[in-house]
Amino acid sequence: MNEKNLPMNLLEQQLDYPHGDTLPESGATLEVAPGVKWIRMTLPFALNHINLWLLRDEMAGPDGPVQGWTVVDCCITRDEAKAQWEQIFATQLDGLPILRVIVTHMHPDHIGLAHWLCERWGVRLWISATDYNVARLGAMGPTAFGGEAAALYFASHGLNDPDSVQGIKARANYFPRLVPAVPSHYRRMMDGDRLTIGGREWSCISGHGHAPEHISLYCAQLRILIGGDMMLPRISTNVSVYEVEPEADALKQFLDSIDKFKALPENTLTLPSHGRPFTGLHIRIGQLHDHHRARLAEVIQVCSEKPSSAADVLPVMFRRPLDLHQKTFAMGESVAHLHALWFEGKLRRALCDDGVYRFSVV
Ligand SMILES: [Zn+2]
Repeated sequence: MNEKNLPMNLLEQQLDYPHGDTLPESGATLEVAPGVKWIRMTLPFALNHINLWLLRDEMAGPDGPVQGWTVVDCCITRDEAKAQWEQIFATQLDGLPILRVIVTHMHPDHIGLAHWLCERWGVRLWISATDYNVARLGAMGPTAFGGEAAALYFASHGLNDPDSVQGIKARANYFPRLVPAVPSHYRRMMDGDRLTIGGREWSCISGHGHAPEHISLYCAQLRILIGGDMMLPRISTNVSVYEVEPEADALKQFLDSIDKFKALPENTLTLPSHGRPFTGLHIRIGQLHDHHRARLAEVIQVCSEKPSSAADVLPVMFRRPLDLHQKTFAMGESVAHLHALWFEGKLRRALCDDGVYRFSVV
């Protein structure tokens, strides 16, 4: 999740941040468009914050329309986030209730508190079917993020030193700790669906390669894209292959998905899950293609010198020191780049005698 090797300042200068350096205060909101409020919550990770959104809404009730708010994304389950939400409920909702909870995708920082928000307000979770079901499985126990199977998978890609293997095995509880529960019912969002939120139409745009079925939302009337993790201004979205789907071509899926945003106007205001709201959507799509093209060139270079595993590629793709958590993300990303070249026919894959997959130039 970095943009190493690229002149970041120059890249960022090509984008426009209408709010400059202004960020919403903790427990407060910043209005980015009529009826669209920005919330920023802290995360105890290297990626230290997440953006959430409040959309002014109106829904049918038993005695006519009910005024309130739709929430987009929730933060992880922890007391600090609940306290911040309570402050927002008390001061930012104009005395109105939350009417629905939309979750862009199943990652813990997005779905973690959905169970609490839905129960607190007695409202429905809206999410894609794939991400709903993957999150429910994840909340039950070991997932791609840690545990025995994940350790074996990463070892088969060369991350087989005893410390890493032990560390990944020990992380079996990673997802349930941040997402202890998922609401038992949901309303499905699919690509092309149109939701009416506060009298305005928002279209669902599915995206793949980062999460199984990520949903971004676009409102033509406001020219606003809620991009989730599919369109970030500064860091590049994590695009990974994990053990549940070990032959995935996640990078191709991701790049094909962001190309769908080319149909939106260039002056669209993108609301990303990390970083600041920005305009320059088409420029950013181009930057992300360039970024991955450069990574693919590095990967093919490494593999042309000798057959290489994902772990061999790691120090070339990520030159900064990584902790174990970052290393598993980086490994997933390394496999994604190797697979893109493998499926394109530029690399071949062999399972070597030591049980490690290595890739060499065709
Ligand atoms: Zn995510």
